[in-house]
Amino acid sequence: MIVRAVSQSGMKTNQEDRVDNASTIQAQGHVPVQAQDALPPLQDRFGRTFDYVRIAVTEKCNLRCTYCMPEEGVDFQGKEKILQSDEILRIVGILGRMGIKKVRFTGGEPLVRKDIVDLVAGSAATPGIKAVHLTTNGLLFDRYAQQLRDAGLTGVNISLDTMDAEKFVRITRREGLGKVKDSIQLALDMGFPRVKVNVVLMRGFNEGELRTFTDLAVDHRLTVRFIEFMPFDGHQIWESGGHFASAESLVKQIETFYPGIKPADGTRTEHHIFQGEGHAGKIAVIPAFTRSLCGNCSRIRVTADGNVRNCLYSDKEFSLREMIRQGGTDDEIVSVFRKAFEEKEEDGFEAKKASSEQQVSVNSIGRASMTQIGG
Ligand code: SAM
Ligand code: SF4
Repeated sequence: MIVRAVSQSGMKTNQEDRVDNASTIQAQGHVPVQAQDALPPLQDRFGRTFDYVRIAVTEKCNLRCTYCMPEEGVDFQGKEKILQSDEILRIVGILGRMGIKKVRFTGGEPLVRKDIVDLVAGSAATPGIKAVHLTTNGLLFDRYAQQLRDAGLTGVNISLDTMDAEKFVRITRREGLGKVKDSIQLALDMGFPRVKVNVVLMRGFNEGELRTFTDLAVDHRLTVRFIEFMPFDGHQIWESGGHFASAESLVKQIETFYPGIKPADGTRTEHHIFQGEGHAGKIAVIPAFTRSLCGNCSRIRVTADGNVRNCLYSDKEFSLREMIRQGGTDDEIVSVFRKAFEEKEEDGFEAKKASSEQQVSVNSIGRASMTQIGG
């Protein structure tokens, strides 16, 4: 077992539920910002409402996962191009007024950013924001865990693709398996309301470890999420064609691992979600490439350099950074989000098609890695 069995009962307590749902999540010592007027919700032309923003806070990372970014020669943008914390918090404040309830900080590796605790605290204190989550590779988590908890972080996704130390080095090009496992345990021990383990499903790499990962959900109050490999790997290994495994094939395996396992509740893109009888945790399968869940998408993405993206598969970007720096008003920022979502395609296949057709006319910079898009 990668992590020790849960010290708690393994079930969510009322208190944890309250924290996760709290419309009043409040960072310790952080006074909530005064609410401003609510704005109409952010919707697209298909009537979908968007209430969840994923904000990449850096493109940099202390790992070099082969499915995400190259080992060397990454052309990181200068610091002046990356949004500053007051700019990020202004965006969060405006989104809170537009009905956005959940913020996730991601990257690159969000914990390499020194002001990450302030970003969490500021977001948690923002009217309308009910949950603040973080996606991390876990290497620096122990350094910030208590401060993040105190700042109001309600959920942590920790990425881990193998339990084998040699394979960990092969996939991440760095040491650190022990630290990542310890971080998962720490997140559980500290009682973060939501703890998830992100596993990129890769044929020829971790298919023999799937049961080891799903077994984590037997005793631990966490969700193990298997994500389909997507072609945003900085031109590394996708093109070999050998690594993709479908969500459907994994769902079938899960049903054989735990006969009678039942569907459970999850987030909107965790369509395939299961919980075995008496299990403390859940198992989710995310069809990120086969895109069967696009209709349920409620995500807004903001890149580290301040562009809004309405879909992972779209190259269209809507710039906020210069508008903010040139004194743009809140109304002008709102209109960028509205335009971005008016132009959202029906699903990721349409978005991809539209992107390749319009590459020249749209503000496209052809991001090839998840660190640039914000995973
Ligand atoms: N550095 C942090 C981490 O690894 O958790 C946050 C950023 S990372 C880009 C966010 C998530 O995207 C991770 O769970 C990672 O495994 C996943 N990811 C990165 N590249 C991917 C790809 N090509 N296909 C599927 N998932 C990918
Ligand atoms: Fe870094 Fe996360 Fe990309 Fe791995 S997946 S290289 S940890 S940003």
